[in-house]
Amino acid sequence: MAVSKLASTVVAPLRASQHRGEMKNRVRWLVIHTAEAPLTASSAEGVARDCASGADGRKVSWHYSPDRDSVACSLNEVYAGRHTGSKTVDERSIAIEMAAYSAGVWSSLAYKDLLKVTAQLAADICFRYSIPVRKLTDSQLAAAKSGTYVEGIISHAQSAKIMGGSTHTDPGPNFPWPEFLSLVTAANPGGPVPKPDTKVDRSMLKLGDSGEPVRNLQIFYNAVRIKAIIEDGDFGPATEAAVKDLQKYYNLDQDGIYGPKTRFRALWQRDKILGVKSL
Ligand SMILES: [Zn+2]
Repeated sequence: MAVSKLASTVVAPLRASQHRGEMKNRVRWLVIHTAEAPLTASSAEGVARDCASGADGRKVSWHYSPDRDSVACSLNEVYAGRHTGSKTVDERSIAIEMAAYSAGVWSSLAYKDLLKVTAQLAADICFRYSIPVRKLTDSQLAAAKSGTYVEGIISHAQSAKIMGGSTHTDPGPNFPWPEFLSLVTAANPGGPVPKPDTKVDRSMLKLGDSGEPVRNLQIFYNAVRIKAIIEDGDFGPATEAAVKDLQKYYNLDQDGIYGPKTRFRALWQRDKILGVKSL
């Protein structure tokens, strides 16, 4: 899950000097940029190629560039980009570099198409990293300076203002945040969060447990991760490894225990998976 399934183009891997190495920290933020590039049909691919080329010896990189009909990936999510100038932010964020000008006409048809494509990508990223769909306030972001990471969506302008490293102001004061956030919410790939079913056993499932809840978990895992573990209802080492894999996929601590946090993420996806009634 290192490249969004929404990416239609992936450019060649970047040189090590162009990014900040492996993403060692938990991803806390989605950073929205504008590439200050024209918005045409092939813009996404152009912006990604620009990233890959390292033009003028620049050491900048970002993960995705959407245009009005496609998404290009220029940096695998397993790597931290160099997109804000702040190491703290770069090492904990995924970057979307929209093929657009911050001074563009956000109410135009072309920019509205771009917003929709970007929102789908943002929803996918937020879902996979458990990032709440909200624009952080400056003070919420500033808490990172004392080691408290409040998760959410931020702008490059905000990162530059609060965390330093750059004087960029993208995506600009005209970026339609409320409209964008509602599009992201609407595009949520997991759909609305299901109501808890009080009849279902909500206890934690762990090594040594057995029964129908464990079997449901195994069926769900096989369906969502397309990996084969035996659906025998026994929580053995293979199921424990599966839960750890699921936790990695959801960007959670990998303790191998199927508890409330992992279940919450799984519930979001459950309705898409046939044959799994309870989790
Ligand atoms: Zn930027």
